[in-house]
Amino acid sequence: MKRLGAALSDDAGQVHVQLEFNIDSMDVPFLCGKVTGTMVVECQRCLEPMPLAVDIDLSLAFVRDAVAAEGIPGPYEPYIVDSVPIMLLDMIEEELLLFLPAIARHELTECPARDWVENHPEPEDSATQTEERQNPFSVLANLKSSNKGK
Ligand SMILES: [Zn+2]
Repeated sequence: MKRLGAALSDDAGQVHVQLEFNIDSMDVPFLCGKVTGTMVVECQRCLEPMPLAVDIDLSLAFVRDAVAAEGIPGPYEPYIVDSVPIMLLDMIEEELLLFLPAIARHELTECPARDWVENHPEPEDSATQTEERQNPFSVLANLKSSNKGK
């Protein structure tokens, strides 16, 4: 799972995959299953590794195209098969990639960067204010230098 590996902090995590394949009474081939375990991602606040609990319920119906996908009854999610055989490993990797949060962060109380965050409330705002306070002077300085030139 190279794509997933690139998105993780390290490969210490493990997931357990349980899948059941069948054909329902409407002749729809389907898959039900669970993916559980942990992945290790990087906290975007402290940049330290952070375990992420994985708990994915799968309920997929295999269809050939988007038109067939529209006729799929709940609770299945249509899975469009564009090539045979289906690579299960790729499919599970895709599900795990989708499960990853866009921005992973520890709970603040558990984050090693907690003290820093609490001692530096909104540092970006105070930087902006300092800049605004300095602006009138730099405008004056510009006026002076342009007058001298004339
Ligand atoms: Zn953190």
